[in-house]
Amino acid sequence: MDIEIEKAAPDEGAGFGVAGDPPSALSPSRAGDFMTCPLLYRFRVIDKIPEPPTTATARGTLVHAVLERLFDLPAASRTPVAAQEMLVPEWTRLCEGDPMLAELITDDEERSRFVAEAAAALTGYFRLEDPRRLEPAEREWYVQTELPSGLRLRGYIDRVDQSPAGDLRIVDYKTGRVPLEAYEASALFQMKFYALVIWKLRGVIPRVLQLMYLSGNGEVLRYSPDEADLRATERKLEALWQAISRARETGDWRPRPGKLCDWCRHKALCPAFGGTLPPLPPLPPARPATVAADA
Ligand code: SF4
Repeated sequence: MDIEIEKAAPDEGAGFGVAGDPPSALSPSRAGDFMTCPLLYRFRVIDKIPEPPTTATARGTLVHAVLERLFDLPAASRTPVAAQEMLVPEWTRLCEGDPMLAELITDDEERSRFVAEAAAALTGYFRLEDPRRLEPAEREWYVQTELPSGLRLRGYIDRVDQSPAGDLRIVDYKTGRVPLEAYEASALFQMKFYALVIWKLRGVIPRVLQLMYLSGNGEVLRYSPDEADLRATERKLEALWQAISRARETGDWRPRPGKLCDWCRHKALCPAFGGTLPPLPPLPPARPATVAADA
């Protein structure tokens, strides 16, 4: 899987704040980071080293924005042409709200190429479904829950559909290619994470988890989770959180070199590739117990 072409995930409240702050919650992206490489998690969550957008992540952001707003239109107006026409205004709006995006592409030719690539992803979307026949229950839905252990789970779900019978379908758009089998499991883990959160929030297990890969001819991966799946996901997240807490206490954030290192934005700092680690940010002062319990 090309991590550069994943959706530019918001930080999803995964403990981001001033450098050194202990993480206080898990998002699917950050859980995935730790599973991929503990040091990558450290760079992102503990050191909070900025990762400016790339054209690939920006394209994902733009396509997601258009697909979200497309459903603001009356059903009959959600056509491929309407979606394409939203690209430039949406890009302008995103740039107005984010100077780093605005600085990313300044050349007209590059902008045209960028918009054309986003348009191709939208074409891929329309090959997969007809939005005129859908009325999503939720879009870009921020969800948060707390497990009995106190671990908080948070994230943004691209879309949730609800059938007349009340069945829920979680939908996630991917502007990247369909992942290799090894990475398909990690994409599915993200979806099970969301299914677990919805189960905790609403007491209903989503019927379908649907990953929509928009590039090329497009492809849809579907999975129906059951209670055993979600209980296993919960146990896995608890174990992950314990491992993160141990690393936090010991300062032992080991690199785990793998295929994704070629896309890692922090490779130059990584000891596995001859880099020198920056010192860990100092731990913030201990918080009062009442606050810590709520952190
Ligand atoms: S280069 Fe690889 S091993 Fe090093 S931090 Fe990045 S993902 Fe981890």
